[in-house]
Amino acid sequence: MHPQLEILLELQDLKAQMLEMEKRDAEYSSREIEEDVFRISAEEAIVQLDTKIQEMEAGLDPDVAARYRLVSGRRPRGSVVPVVDGICYGCFVAMPTAMTRSNETLRWCEGCGSFVYFVD
Ligand SMILES: [Zn+2]
Repeated sequence: MHPQLEILLELQDLKAQMLEMEKRDAEYSSREIEEDVFRISAEEAIVQLDTKIQEMEAGLDPDVAARYRLVSGRRPRGSVVPVVDGICYGCFVAMPTAMTRSNETLRWCEGCGSFVYFVD
């Protein structure tokens, strides 16, 4: 897998996790349970995730980072989407068939601008 794609996928996981934490943080009762189980407050966890996200974003190439910022602004839940059977799951438009279905190359969808990875 392309190293930049790996970073993007990890970033996506971290962001999804952070959204989840923020949602739980807003619900007081479940937050108490969370702290009891993990011995870490939701606020601490969010700060840690945020730090990690910034570290990882710093590892992106400048042109990749520019696209990433553009796309993640529009799609807060993720800037990397799977392509299943040639269909982009960001916008549900068919990808050009001539496109090499390899995750060794960093690609994005011309339709929605999201980075894509191919799923068999
Ligand atoms: Zn798309």
